[in-house]
Amino acid sequence: MSNYIQDRITQIRFQLPDTVRLIAVTKTVPAEVIRIAYAAGIRDFGENRVQEAATKQAELQDLPDITWHFIGHLQSNKAKKALELFQWIHSVDNLTIAQRLNQLATQLSVKPHVCLQVKILPDPNKSGWHIPQLLEDLPSLNSYQNLQCQGLMTIPPLGLDEFQTLEVFNKTRQLAQEINDQKWSNIYLEQLSMGMSGDYLLAVKAGATMVRLGTILFGARPS
Ligand SMILES: *Cc1c(COP(=O)(O)O)cnc(C)c1O
Repeated sequence: MSNYIQDRITQIRFQLPDTVRLIAVTKTVPAEVIRIAYAAGIRDFGENRVQEAATKQAELQDLPDITWHFIGHLQSNKAKKALELFQWIHSVDNLTIAQRLNQLATQLSVKPHVCLQVKILPDPNKSGWHIPQLLEDLPSLNSYQNLQCQGLMTIPPLGLDEFQTLEVFNKTRQLAQEINDQKWSNIYLEQLSMGMSGDYLLAVKAGATMVRLGTILFGARPS
């Protein structure tokens, strides 16, 4: 188990350009296994449930230099806890939650790193901004001084072929560029959080700066 995970991490690191941050997605993965990934050099970990992350972080307090990334749909009543536990929130997916996060971040005196989750194609199974709505919401987002809006996050719909998947990732990069060209004072999207176990090589081809990998590192999750 331990060797397998360390080998996988080494292999995948080798495939990735140095500029791409490897986020190990550890939902359902126990703290002991997170330690194995840590020993192999991983310092970025992603979780999609606030309570599960709280439990594991408590068990891992002796590992001080971990950056925790929240990657799941965030409910308003979990927002405060999320800000206490995570330095990055990849999945800010509507203006209401963004506003709430900013309010809470101000109270807590934190400045979380944020990615805005976008839907490049319609997808009933995923949350996220549609492009026109995001463009409309930029002035408000720009006014949220405690959010560091630093990237876009996307998950392509299931069932696309490789060409279509690559196109989703390319469009995400182009959208970030378009927004950056508008020269907002408080929004600069230099991060592209895209690519999971099944599509990360395509995402990297399209310019991903963060890949979020679970299954390929830790094996299939219990369903
Ligand atoms: C679970 C999850 C991942 C990792 O998925 P794998 O296919 O196991 O690599 C990445 N991103 C998000 C948002 C997830 O929920």
